[in-house]
Amino acid sequence: MAKEDYYKLLGVDRNASEAELKKSFKRLAMKFHPDRNKDDPEQAEIKFKEIKEAYDVLSDPQKRAAYDQFGHEGVNAGFGGARGAEGFSDIFDMFGDIFGGGRQQRGGVQRGADLRYNLELSLEEAVHGTETTIKVPVLVACGECGGSGARKGSSPVTCQTCHGHGQVRMQQGFFSVQQTCPTCRGAGKQIKDPCPKCYGQGRVQETKTLSVKIPPGVDTGDRIRLSGEGEAGAGGGPAGDLYVQVHVKEHPIFSRDGANLSCEVPISFPAACLGGEIEVPTLDGKVILKIPPETQTGKMFRLRGKGVKPVRGGITGDLLCKIYVETPVHLTKEQKALIEKLGDSLSGDGKKHSPQEHGFMDSVKNFFDKLTG
Ligand SMILES: [Zn+2]
Ligand SMILES: [Zn+2]
Repeated sequence: MAKEDYYKLLGVDRNASEAELKKSFKRLAMKFHPDRNKDDPEQAEIKFKEIKEAYDVLSDPQKRAAYDQFGHEGVNAGFGGARGAEGFSDIFDMFGDIFGGGRQQRGGVQRGADLRYNLELSLEEAVHGTETTIKVPVLVACGECGGSGARKGSSPVTCQTCHGHGQVRMQQGFFSVQQTCPTCRGAGKQIKDPCPKCYGQGRVQETKTLSVKIPPGVDTGDRIRLSGEGEAGAGGGPAGDLYVQVHVKEHPIFSRDGANLSCEVPISFPAACLGGEIEVPTLDGKVILKIPPETQTGKMFRLRGKGVKPVRGGITGDLLCKIYVETPVHLTKEQKALIEKLGDSLSGDGKKHSPQEHGFMDSVKNFFDKLTG
């Protein structure tokens, strides 16, 4: 098959300057980008290879001279198997960013940023769930211009500098460096007559009041997504999301570990000795806890199902009550005498009444005996 004339392929005349060649190549390369030729990518690839080959030759002064003199025969040597085998994707890799990829949607339309709102909750609110309103400062689409940034009744025009691509290319030898268009800052459009409310930004700062439903069982670190309540998109793009980040405040009584709650419960010395019933708090009110006689400090009582029902489902946790025995304070003379009397009575058979104390003292004695051995 006879090859088409390189100048014809690039749509330039034989006297075209380097700049004209480059410009034309760029335009055609964009045109045959596979992303823009989804209905016939194969044909686009063939076409791209042709213009690429033409540009490679004509952009090289030596090859161009040879081509001018001898036509295709003059430059064939320069295109060996290696070139021919070059894959389409390789070519695009070589050209790097000139096509702008799919990162930025055309026309400067961008999804708005996601936002985070830190929400402090009491433990009760976190466990039982709640509904609260929050005020969030956020960029919203300008109501006056509908987000276009152009005065009502007018519309943005295609940027003259980048022809709507939002990016400009700086050529440095063979390599090209892509930059955001300085004229339109990547939007691809220019606003000749800006909206007086948003000054052409298309977005205005507003404090949104939102109602947030907190499901029961949330914990610090959980977040609730409010879809589309984030920042409005640039150029009329879709809004981002708002993430409500939960932080549960410390509770004066309970601490939480996942689904379990725990608290420390003081009991009197007599109750510890003789046993009895004590009131313990739960998040749903007080309950009676039976304490057996001779209860020690550190003893843990588990109230099943009095913890938290996890937000993601599962078994409701427990409430762990850790007992500590309170030493009586502000004793009267009479009380002191009674305790002295009690002390005397207990010391008669100390090993029996205070096994831990004596066990400990024995260990200490052994320790020093070994040390002095
Ligand atoms: Zn506006
Ligand atoms: Zn531009």
